[in-house]
Amino acid sequence: MLSYVNNKFCSLDNAKISVNDRGYQFGDAVYEVILYKDGKFLDMEGHLKRLRKSMSRIDFELNISDSAIKTIIKRLVTENNLKYGSIYIQVSRGEYFRDHSYFNMPLKPILVILTKKIKEKFKIVVPGIKVFTTLDTRWSNPDIKTTQLLPNVLAKTEGMKNGFGEALFLDDNSYITEGSSSNFWILDKNNILNTRSLDGKILAGITRDSILNCAKNKKIKVLEKKISLDDIKTCKEAFITSASSFVTPVVQVDEMIINSGLVGEFSNLLRKTYLELNDWFISKLNNISNLKEKVLIVIPIINNYKIFKDSFYYRDNIDSRKSETISLVNAMKVNVLEVLNIKINNFSSANLFNKNKLVYISEVIQK
Ligand code: PMP
Repeated sequence: MLSYVNNKFCSLDNAKISVNDRGYQFGDAVYEVILYKDGKFLDMEGHLKRLRKSMSRIDFELNISDSAIKTIIKRLVTENNLKYGSIYIQVSRGEYFRDHSYFNMPLKPILVILTKKIKEKFKIVVPGIKVFTTLDTRWSNPDIKTTQLLPNVLAKTEGMKNGFGEALFLDDNSYITEGSSSNFWILDKNNILNTRSLDGKILAGITRDSILNCAKNKKIKVLEKKISLDDIKTCKEAFITSASSFVTPVVQVDEMIINSGLVGEFSNLLRKTYLELNDWFISKLNNISNLKEKVLIVIPIINNYKIFKDSFYYRDNIDSRKSETISLVNAMKVNVLEVLNIKINNFSSANLFNKNKLVYISEVIQK
């Protein structure tokens, strides 16, 4: 079947979209479906108009005119011998190395048009169907780490455009939930560490959990509670945590300056403690002499790293743009189950995953 994928005609079997397509990774794309009935496109103008509107609402535009899109659709319909069917149009923001913010990214929207045959002609009279009611939960489960990240993408980019390193989401009662790609913390006026509890409104960050352990080890008091803007006004320090940023100090929230705009000692200490937890791995990496290229070590469970520290896994550098230390920390955040499965199955000299993607394990060393 002829299709139009990645801005060119091709057979559906040979159609290719990069796994770095933002539609694939973030849901950062818009779409339309148009019905085709024996020579006629139903509501074509309305659908194309809404497609443009959707793109403009999420801040990008497609440099292909409506008449060019219609020409593509007509060719697909003709060559695919469509009599009755539907036309699926999708435009993603484009393709680039994964990053929530698309600010200053060199992106070109990617157009996909597919046709689908409907065998029978559309019936005029049809039987009624049964329906049921359910809560409108679109998309209100941020505790599930899905790729439906468009709101996160838009918030992060809006922030970057205005000089902010992260966007903090507020719930209906103006309490902070979390960052667009991080968990949020404050050291309150009583020197107690506050972060929101796992109440379904935040992602259970792996780094958050590690930091809770660090705090426990250091006998730092922690309160898992909702953080209000007033709490921020009076707090001593604030920071965000995530796998890619570990502990990043926050010195300003909206107009509120925290700790006179200076990075606090406590945030620095936590960042150091968190990184030192990983020093053991780094020293091991330095001891490995037979590396052909820059590789990283993945340890199954960071929080229980002592239990697993006898097992080593090599893998490709995941992001050459970042420093080795950052990559190393990222590497340790690799999906725990994946690594454990590898260990259970067969972990010697195996190309276990797509070499171009994150987890290419070339060799395993046992201590
Ligand atoms: N919240 C959100 C919305 C995130 O995207 C992330 C980063 N994945 C986090 C929190 C932090 O999670 P982690 O420490 O596991 O990276």
